[in-house]
Amino acid sequence: MADEIQPQIVTEATGSKTERIEEVAKIASVCTACDLSKTRTRVVFGEGNPEAPLMLIGEGPGQNEDATGRPFVGRSGVLLDECLRENGITRKHVYLCNVVRCRACVFEGGRLKNRPPTPTESEACSQWLNQTIEIVKPKVILCLGAPSASAIIHKGFKMTKERGQWFESKFAKYAMAAWHPAYILRLEGEAYEAARRALVEDIAAARQKVIEAKKEPEMTLF
Ligand code: URA
Repeated sequence: MADEIQPQIVTEATGSKTERIEEVAKIASVCTACDLSKTRTRVVFGEGNPEAPLMLIGEGPGQNEDATGRPFVGRSGVLLDECLRENGITRKHVYLCNVVRCRACVFEGGRLKNRPPTPTESEACSQWLNQTIEIVKPKVILCLGAPSASAIIHKGFKMTKERGQWFESKFAKYAMAAWHPAYILRLEGEAYEAARRALVEDIAAARQKVIEAKKEPEMTLF
């Protein structure tokens, strides 16, 4: 009937953030966009609460993450969990993922060793990072280490100069970089203590920024 109201064509994504993340993670689990798919055991998509206002982004999975399919489960993960816990935060309060979702490794000395992902691999994986952020829509992003900060904040990010500062990014209104736990674990003595303290403080700053951002009026049209 001509003047009957026609059903709307639904172009908006439907479902809860959790359902949408699960859907995308399922598609990503068989991704072959780059050669890391040939050596990975599992795609490490991410974990935590997709409804969370705070997203933590690392560089990429290592051996333990590749074996389990979960981000930050090795020594770096233990340190990260400790620093979160010192701020009263658990993985249920955040969404945790990586720039690259498959382990980058090289065969050396008779075994597979972690290596940084190449720009081509990071570019091939950017579809998953973009979709994760698009679904979760975090108010605050805490980048763990320079590769994550270079992907989220700006290219050529300098941790020594820019760590702990707030930036506006196209991915989130508030983005900041903190030391990567793996970097902290390579330090010793007072340098280790200082960097660990800085990570705890940067997580505290991110937590505080979430509280402040929640008070801001939502700038939506409807
Ligand atoms: N390092 C990362 O950047 N991500 C992980 O998931 C583990 C270690």
